[in-house]
Amino acid sequence: MSSARRLLAALAVSLLSVSPLTFAAPPPEKIPGQPSYGTERYIEYVAGDLPLVLTSPHGGRLKPTALPDRTNGVTTMDANTQELARAVATAFFARTGHHVHLVASHLHRSKLDPNREIVEGAQGNPTAERAWHEFHASIREALAAAVARHGFAFLVDLHGHAHAIPRLELGYALDALPLNQSDAAFDNSGLIALTTLRDLAARLGGSPTALVRGPRSLGALFAARGLRAVPSPQEPQPGNNPFFSGGYIVRQHAAAPDTPKVDGLQIECHRLGLRDTAANHAHFAKIAAEVLTLFVEEHYPFKFPAPQK
Ligand SMILES: [Zn+2]
Repeated sequence: MSSARRLLAALAVSLLSVSPLTFAAPPPEKIPGQPSYGTERYIEYVAGDLPLVLTSPHGGRLKPTALPDRTNGVTTMDANTQELARAVATAFFARTGHHVHLVASHLHRSKLDPNREIVEGAQGNPTAERAWHEFHASIREALAAAVARHGFAFLVDLHGHAHAIPRLELGYALDALPLNQSDAAFDNSGLIALTTLRDLAARLGGSPTALVRGPRSLGALFAARGLRAVPSPQEPQPGNNPFFSGGYIVRQHAAAPDTPKVDGLQIECHRLGLRDTAANHAHFAKIAAEVLTLFVEEHYPFKFPAPQK
């Protein structure tokens, strides 16, 4: 064998030996209903097969001493909101026999706030920063899986508020100022294009007001089932009352221009009669699953499956 041939043969062998690494198979698709975890198990992602993605950024209870406390921003948790999110996932499974996607932070908000940009959320700690990235990567993975399977995704970010009025605050990335406008002024403002319903509004056309507080809006559907909500036909405007309009998660993953085929909202839940007991979690979850099913089926070319009997 000439030296040139020997060299080629050696090269071929070395190429063969690296090829399995170079062409490693992509990670297997996650199994609906099964959780996977980030490093240290701070972030949990339960994969789904429905177009709904639930997120729970403020319901974690872990306070590992290895992580320093955050020193600025809000550090109190939204009590029982992770249990509430799991109850909603359970209600969907009971209705359909299928799974929503669920992304939850197990870290207490004093250690990590995934509903803020990374500087305020992780405050420079590398471990907290890694968990922050894992949380948002899981949301992107869940949304991409839903869009790939169904052509759209609907993101619901669940929170708890302590405001005086016991009602749901529905955050479409619309602040009180635009919501306090008249229907005509809001319809003419063009602001719907900056909200978490931007893709839906662009596809449907028609009145933006109807989408956020009309008779078939999410607020109307909740109110019809005994849960006060703002915005809704009954309570169209926050007025001067404190109001959570949607935070970093929904603004980043549903309202931003680079989130095609994703809509959604932030739901802020009061505590008494809703977040306080397991029975009330289940009651809210049943209503929420019914309301979200109606809204999605009316506005997207999708029908939720019925459970196999
Ligand atoms: Zn919150």
